[in-house]
Order: sequence, then structure tokens, then C-alpha cells
Amino acid sequence: MKYKRIVLKLSGESLMGSRHSNIDPAVLEQYSEEIKAVKDEGVEIAIVIGGGNIFRGGQAEALGIERVQGDYMGMLATVINAMALQSALERHGMFTRLMSGIKMEQVCEPFIKRRAIRHLEKGRIVIFGAGIGNPYFTTDSTASLRAIEVQADVVLKGTRVDGVYTKDPEKFPDAVRFKTLTFQEAYAKNLNIMDMTAFTLCMENKLPIIVFDMNNKGNLLKIARGEEAGTLIS
Ligand code: UDP
Repeated sequence: MKYKRIVLKLSGESLMGSRHSNIDPAVLEQYSEEIKAVKDEGVEIAIVIGGGNIFRGGQAEALGIERVQGDYMGMLATVINAMALQSALERHGMFTRLMSGIKMEQVCEPFIKRRAIRHLEKGRIVIFGAGIGNPYFTTDSTASLRAIEVQADVVLKGTRVDGVYTKDPEKFPDAVRFKTLTFQEAYAKNLNIMDMTAFTLCMENKLPIIVFDMNNKGNLLKIARGEEAGTLIS
């Protein structure tokens, strides 16, 4: 395996799958299988999951909810998704720990860096819920920060497109995918890879990012092996 310790970022919206409800069990099933295949090869895996399928802080003001309150609602939404994913992973025989950026001791442990690393070393899948626990951040930033804290080798950003393109491939059929990019190129071209905080954290700490299609079966394992799939930003 090329990567020994990875942080996998999944968006909340991806959990919706083809359903109109918040969480599609078929997606949980598929993600669990993909994750297990990588786990079985001995890779240490931490996961950050978003909350966009339930609530985003950016929606708050339109609903008459103050932004900071909305951000906390978004963070709590990520915990709901994390709990759903945790159950699915456990059903597939994996050992897991859910660590939260906001204290909620009945359902998860607080995030403690050393403890998170210990869990990973023991082969547990660690899910980071509630973002970093602060408003005005995103789960992309959480993935970057936690990956740096636990000394992961790479952040894998699972999306519904298979990498970073010259322009939006869902709108422009002539868009071309980059196989690799440097952080400087991605910045100069203003490519939308992660939000700026998340991107800068990775760049400054020389933490590579791979953007890939999580819905393409076997992709996660390919990437963990170091095979080309998606776009590597380093
Ligand atoms: N959020 C936050 N701080 C964090 C992480 C998340 O305030 O550290 C809030 C923010 O409002 C965000 C919401 O939680 O909109 C859900 O996360 P995100 O939008 O990153 O989820 P995704 O788009 O990946 O589903």
C-alpha cells in the first residue's frame, strides 16, 4: 500500500444517493464495502463526513436563524451522519470510534489527538464528527486539520466526479481532467478543490490531496495502492 494512514473526506450530500431522504442505506452499504477493502490491506483510516444532506450553516440566515447557531446545527448534522456510517461500518465487522469536536459524551468521545492516533494504530476506524467544533469552518477544513494532527499521509476527497477538471465537467463536456497538479498550479488556476482554509492548511503542511470519485467501485483501494485514479494535488 502506498499510503499507510489516510483521512477520507465524504460529503453529507453523497449519503443521499439516489433517494430523496437524507441517508440512503445503499450508499452506506457501498461505502462500508469500499472502506473495508482498504482496511483489510492494513491501511489506517480516519473519516470526516459532512452534514450538507441535513443542514449547512450557509442556509441559516434565510431561515431567520443566526449564522453561528446555523453552523452548530451543521456540526450536529455531521454527527448524525457519522453515527449512521459508524453503524454501517460495524455491521461490516470493522471496529470504530466516533470522536467529536463538540463534547457529547453519551454518543462519542471528545477529539483528543493522542487518543485518535492510538485508535488508528490499533486498527480502529476513527470518524471525526462535529467538524472542528467551531463555527465558520467546514468539514473540508476539518479533514485537512485532523489529517495534519494525526499525521496522515494524504487527504482523500471523495466526490461524485473523478477528479479536478479545467472547468465544471457536469456543465462543459469539453472539460479536461488533471491527473496531477501542484498546489501552486491549483491556486493560480483558481480550481475549486476545497475551501481556501482547507486548501491552505494542506499546502502549508505539504499534505497531498487526492480528489476522486467515491461512487466508482474499487477506486478507494486503487488510490490506497498508489494507482492513478482522480487528481493528485501535491
Ligand atoms: N461546520 C462548522 N464548523 C466545522 C465543520 C462544519 O461550522 O468545523 C458547519 C457548517 O455550517 C457547514 C456544516 O457544518 O456548512 C456542514 O458541513 P459541510 O458544509 O462541510 O458539509 P458537506 O458540504 O461536506 O456535506
